[in-house]
Amino acid sequence: MNYDAIVIGAGMSGLAAGIRLAMFDKKVVILEKHSIPGGLNSYYQRRNFDKGGIRQFDVGLHALTNFIKKGEKGKPFSKLLKQLRLSYDDFKLCPQSHSKILFPEMELKFSNDFELLRNEVHEKFPNQIDSFNRLVESVNTFNELDLTLGYSSSRETLKQLITDDLLIEMILCPLLIYGSAWEDDMDFAQFVIMFKSLYFEGFSRPEGGVRTIISLLMKKLEEAGGEIRFKTAVTNILTDESGRAYGVDLGGEVLTAPVILSSIGYPETVRLTSVLQEKVSPRVGAMTFLESIFVFDKKIPIIQNDTTIVFYNNSSKYNYRPASDFYDPNSAVVCYPDNYEPLKNEGEGTVRITYMANYSQWRELERSAYDEKKEAVAESAMQLIKNMNPHFDGKLLFKDVFSPMTIERYTWHLNGTVYGSIDKTRDGTTPVPGLFIIGTDQGFLGIVGSILSGISLANLHGLMAGDA
Ligand SMILES: Cc1cc2nc3c(=O)[nH]c(=O)nc-3n(C[C@H](O)[C@H](O)[C@H](O)COP(=O)(O)OP(=O)(O)OC[C@H]3O[C@@H](n4cnc5c(N)ncnc54)[C@H](O)[C@@H]3O)c2cc1C
Repeated sequence: MNYDAIVIGAGMSGLAAGIRLAMFDKKVVILEKHSIPGGLNSYYQRRNFDKGGIRQFDVGLHALTNFIKKGEKGKPFSKLLKQLRLSYDDFKLCPQSHSKILFPEMELKFSNDFELLRNEVHEKFPNQIDSFNRLVESVNTFNELDLTLGYSSSRETLKQLITDDLLIEMILCPLLIYGSAWEDDMDFAQFVIMFKSLYFEGFSRPEGGVRTIISLLMKKLEEAGGEIRFKTAVTNILTDESGRAYGVDLGGEVLTAPVILSSIGYPETVRLTSVLQEKVSPRVGAMTFLESIFVFDKKIPIIQNDTTIVFYNNSSKYNYRPASDFYDPNSAVVCYPDNYEPLKNEGEGTVRITYMANYSQWRELERSAYDEKKEAVAESAMQLIKNMNPHFDGKLLFKDVFSPMTIERYTWHLNGTVYGSIDKTRDGTTPVPGLFIIGTDQGFLGIVGSILSGISLANLHGLMAGDA
């Protein structure tokens, strides 16, 4: 079968690319190995506690970054709406109340109004406010979308501007854990993207969680006439004698197209393309995580806790690297999805906890040891919830933990990595003409980032000039 474009993977970037191409009447197919869409940000089913029936849980959604108010223009989220012809109201965004960065000696709050963070820095680090404002100015003037940029260390740049080490660690903490493939540091372009996404624009959550976003994208794809095939793994990317990609092998069936957009990761794409293996060897990133979810019979009262997300660290240095053991309880992201507006105090309460993990350790475990370790993670995470909410007496209805092995098993990302390779291809090109990388390993990640990556590379390489 011949197509105008083939998209590999039905995560956020693949769905967005497919929609954009189908919108301009390109004959496009999205090929997805899993039985459902969403990729790293998908959902799964479990029994509905003791209530009977089944129930769906988001895999990991903490926050949709890049919040805008209705009608705001010129921002990443408004670009996403415009390019995919989606309406703001369809997302049913519930903004965060506020989040906080919690270190033993200091806490910094931030919200969808950047001035809160600026005031917090002014109050808590008075001698650093001018430096912080200079950092804000550098972020504002930096062109993070310049696709020709190479890696430059954010820590080095921060050290040149800010003299208080604690403030550097606190600024970096949420940005690293929400988007760095690099250990203990991140590319400055990525830092700027994340700084704007988290601190300038902020968090919200669609009512209904990630399934609201996935349903919108699937509906749009269908309306535009795009094709999607589930349980369809690409086993080989095919190249002709000149070294150009011309199609994919599905383990027997061959589909052809002049443009192939791969969202499965750069190293993972190289594995499927023999001529690429002779030319590049992007390294597999080491950053992977454990996610625990707890559902209680009631919400944590707002007077006890009104924070949406806590970026917790138990020392003055934030160590962002694979855990030396199975997991690292010294830091965590604690997400209270009930603390998005409108805050309600009745009904069940949910808490999600993310720990840094170590893939190699988890890989070695036999089934029973694996289950025991997951139980230890759940106990540690539960203790953290109790420490943070000492007066909460909710009854636990449901708990679940997923590990780097779960991530690898359902998304096929090597080593269960979440933020992909440390060797990004920022313009999406590979040494194989006709084959492009979209999503995480183009260097744009998170839900909004990967959707925009899919859109922009579909525009650049999938649509003829003038189409878009
Ligand atoms: C636990 C967790 C929590 C997260 N929380 C948030 C959050 O709160 N907010 C946020 O913005 N981001 C969050 N993220 C990050 C976000 O999910 C990702 O950055 C984003 O979804 C990446 O999308 P992608 O399209 O680049 O890749 P992916 O989602 O990885 O999509 C790739 C797709 O390719 C498929 N595939 C793989 N191999 C093949 C093959 N051979 N053939 C066909 N298909 C294949 C996979 O099954 C997958 O569906 C979270 C991630 C995780 C793991």
